[in-house]
Amino acid sequence: MPISRVLEAAISHLDCIRDCSNACTSCLCDYSNQRIWDQLDRVPVKAWLEDMLASRLPGPFESAGAKPWAHPSLKSVAESFAGADEVSILAPRLGLGDDPEEVNRKWLTGLLESGVNVRLYLQTRPDEAGCTRSTDARTALRHLYPYVESGHLSVWECTTLTEDHLAKMPRIWASDSGSAVFFSATEGTSMLGKPLPEPAYRSEWSPAVKDLLDPLSSAQQVPKELLEAWMPLKFWSLKASEDNRFEKVFGHLANTYIQSVEIRDPYCVASSQNLGSIGAFIELLAESAATIEKLSVISRELPERDDRWEPFHKVQERAAEELAGLGIEPEITVRPFRKARQFHDRTIDIVIIDDSGCSKRYRYDLTGGVDFLMSKGRDTKVYRYEQAG
Ligand SMILES: [Zn+2]
Repeated sequence: MPISRVLEAAISHLDCIRDCSNACTSCLCDYSNQRIWDQLDRVPVKAWLEDMLASRLPGPFESAGAKPWAHPSLKSVAESFAGADEVSILAPRLGLGDDPEEVNRKWLTGLLESGVNVRLYLQTRPDEAGCTRSTDARTALRHLYPYVESGHLSVWECTTLTEDHLAKMPRIWASDSGSAVFFSATEGTSMLGKPLPEPAYRSEWSPAVKDLLDPLSSAQQVPKELLEAWMPLKFWSLKASEDNRFEKVFGHLANTYIQSVEIRDPYCVASSQNLGSIGAFIELLAESAATIEKLSVISRELPERDDRWEPFHKVQERAAEELAGLGIEPEITVRPFRKARQFHDRTIDIVIIDDSGCSKRYRYDLTGGVDFLMSKGRDTKVYRYEQAG
């Protein structure tokens, strides 16, 4: 009997007619095993067997002649494009994703530096994916825009692509036939979070592969001017020895009417030193502005493995105590780590109302957070964006 039949039989046995949560007398529990009833759990075992069965079935890209690639590496992907003029990459959205070392971003810029032109096809426009909302997309764009400007990178949007298309189409390929084509059976990751998420597959270029690329014929190039409009208007590279950092970046807010300030930084309440930096920032801002109507600080609990870990409600209490008496009472939110794993923003949003009654939003992306900005001895960068209304 082939192993797949054995797996199928086991899976159907675990498929309980009562759809119980762990195990019941309709599926696993009987007289002989009653001493271990409370240890039986059909759910994870069923999922595990289903995965095992799936890995024995033909791969999802079999029709395009693709074979599973057991040990995929972006280095091999780049090597396979030696001599190609243009490489295309298809991704759901822009963004660095969960890649703190920016390995994937460096891979892409490395490819561009090697002289290859890259076409980046996105399922969602950078603005819809949150260029103005997500730090992630803004950071990715700041790294990539110089290549747009030099003409090595073009960004294309293909909003008609469905999840279904995306599940079948190649992710990375060279536009001239003859090179390898790469597929992924994982959806939903951002471009630079993982350009080729596992499980990965590869095939040779073929007419079948070419057909799979048909949906891209409706793709439209995102104009350079639009990408430029999403770039920061001001930029500071503050050296470790530099004085008056607050003045340099926030001096333009002197005597303004500030409607709201929102500080988002996952580490800004992590220690007394970091809280001190937040306090110093708030004090200077309160002194400089005519009015601050509302101030909020959004941060996160540390991961439990960190020596300084405390439950989020404790951190929130301590932060409120340490930030009391600054001239303005901040509203502090400390999010539990489990619910804010993907929270990497280090951003200050300031909305002002000018003399004519119009509101304007300034957004500052801080590479090192508020602590690096406020403490001399650290190099840090600040990018300022502006948005009317
Ligand atoms: Zn059951």
